[in-house]
Amino acid sequence: MGEAEGIAERLARARERIAAAAGRAGRDPARVKLMAVTKTVAAERVREAAACGQMLFGENRVQAAAEKIPAVGPGPKWHMIGRLQTNKAKAAVRLFDCVESVDSVRLAEILDRAARESGKVLPVFVEVNIGGEAQKSGALPGEVERLLDSAAGLESIRVTGLMAIPPYSLDPEEARPYFRRMYDLWARLRERGFGLDDLSMGMSGDFEAAVEEGATVVRLGTVLFGVRGDG
Ligand SMILES: *Cc1c(COP(=O)(O)O)cnc(C)c1O
Repeated sequence: MGEAEGIAERLARARERIAAAAGRAGRDPARVKLMAVTKTVAAERVREAAACGQMLFGENRVQAAAEKIPAVGPGPKWHMIGRLQTNKAKAAVRLFDCVESVDSVRLAEILDRAARESGKVLPVFVEVNIGGEAQKSGALPGEVERLLDSAAGLESIRVTGLMAIPPYSLDPEEARPYFRRMYDLWARLRERGFGLDDLSMGMSGDFEAAVEEGATVVRLGTVLFGVRGDG
């Protein structure tokens, strides 16, 4: 169908742009995962993306995920990328392969308990409020190590990455210093022995800069599925 061709081409173009950005930075493009962000996107279109070989998806709402993930079927991995209400932790643990938005010890503990009850170990990322913005979720950069220390004592979650959304700007060059700061934080914490495999940063407007600065996961919605009505 026309729609399926559209998504196949958009995925291919995004992969090319990621590879070119990795090349400019002397990085291995295989070290950068493309996440397709499906918020507000209907399940049929997500299924088309999966049929094109897309294997990593991101959703920001548990309720939408509860409908979409079963509709798309087994195979792809799903990451929770939105703010998680604690009363939805159990559902999130059941639905998702990773929660990228852990930003407090309390949420880490709630997910740990829910994961233990489900008999699984849940990979999570710590979300970092890299711009220190008042209204934004995420742990402040100075709080991250303490949060990782606390999470290390929890047996049913494993922190495997950091995630960030820099302050909003139309100019990717304005995001670049924040990406660089995230990379430095990630590298420093890895040196201290934290098993942080992934650095999730970069969206449709700025993912090439994020890849140049060291992202291992880019989260793309608009460039793959078109402009959303609302988030
Ligand atoms: C919506 C969203 C994205 C994707 O944004 P686009 O600009 O459409 O690519 C990435 N990450 C998070 C956390 C989001 O909420």
